[in-house]
Amino acid sequence: MPTLRKFLEKINIDAEIDFDEPMANHTSFRIGGPADALVLPRSTDDLARLLVAAESEGIPVAVIGGGANLLVADAGVRGVVVCTSLLRRFEVEATGDNLGAAGSGPAAAGGDPEATGGYMVRVGAGLPVTELLARLLELGLSGLEFAAGLPGSVGGAVYMNARCYEHEIADLLDSVFYLDSVAHQPRHTGMQRQHWAYKRTPFMPGGTLEGAVVTGARFRLQHGDKALMTARMAELEADRQAKGHFDNPCAGSLFKNDRCFGRPTGQILDELGFRGRRIGDAMVSRKHANIFVNAGRASAMDMLALVSEAQAAAQKAFGFELEPEVVRLGDFSR
Ligand SMILES: Cc1cc2nc3c(=O)[nH]c(=O)nc-3n(C[C@H](O)[C@H](O)[C@H](O)COP(=O)(O)OP(=O)(O)OC[C@H]3O[C@@H](n4cnc5c(N)ncnc54)[C@H](O)[C@@H]3O)c2cc1C
Repeated sequence: MPTLRKFLEKINIDAEIDFDEPMANHTSFRIGGPADALVLPRSTDDLARLLVAAESEGIPVAVIGGGANLLVADAGVRGVVVCTSLLRRFEVEATGDNLGAAGSGPAAAGGDPEATGGYMVRVGAGLPVTELLARLLELGLSGLEFAAGLPGSVGGAVYMNARCYEHEIADLLDSVFYLDSVAHQPRHTGMQRQHWAYKRTPFMPGGTLEGAVVTGARFRLQHGDKALMTARMAELEADRQAKGHFDNPCAGSLFKNDRCFGRPTGQILDELGFRGRRIGDAMVSRKHANIFVNAGRASAMDMLALVSEAQAAAQKAFGFELEPEVVRLGDFSR
């Protein structure tokens, strides 16, 4: 720890830094032991400097956004956990005939957005999706309403290709800004749609951009009717409430769906009688069998044991391999 403290003092980046910080405070599961250092850089330049310096010193770095899809080990995370939550840029860039009016809102940009190809909105990775949607609603910029109530950051939604109500983030992406995994230089990529699929992105292990850190995204949006947008978002938020998404700390769906199963994973776990199943304080929601919750003071090990039990049951009954959607972070060996 003193070494890490010295290292962070030496590189002197503009960032919020906490040592020995419980990750339970930064995950929607409310589970997870301490990160040696949790660092919130105030700019992408500071983030890049941190990545370069950490690599040269051999210090491991993990990146998180809102922590809404993470199971962090009880033993915590060694090295640096970078949280993007201070990278909150929000900028409307007009397109088509409106080009040149970048930085202005839709009203100021002039022209008919539908005739000119709509608007591009560039946002920082750390902006919470719910905050992005609130700002888009204010401006009457439509397209992302399907993500109403989605916990987590823009960067996390891009990394995961978050999917809600039959739409996914990649559908609206124009480009992604990132720091590459080799020199940690700022770059951006257009959408090569073949690299994006259901819960699959180029930034994940095995992808063409594995190890890159998402710093921002540009979305392609249209002018929308604010009343219709408000109604749609309220409807989806109410649906999430009704499904019990916010009743207990959780990370959304625990497992991915798989077309080969012929039915949603939640239904499979239902058939296996998993609703309400419990190990310690790790519990399967009584309202939705693919949502695993922290019903009190669940440990990561309890949650992992429940996950394994569900996987073993699905394998035994149907020969299905349930693949977790929730990402593990930290040392699970003890
Ligand atoms: C109540 C509830 C409901 C949910 N409903 C849905 C839903 O409908 N659809 C859905 O898809 N998901 C859902 N989720 C899961 C979660 O909201 C999404 O996966 C979300 O996109 C995660 O974003 P995050 O910022 O919290 O990512 P985190 O949990 O912080 O990180 C998730 C992964 O992304 C990586 N990552 C995060 N930021 C970056 C970055 N800037 N650069 C590189 N890698 C990064 C992390 O390393 C990690 O591997 C739900 C979660 C909850 C708690």
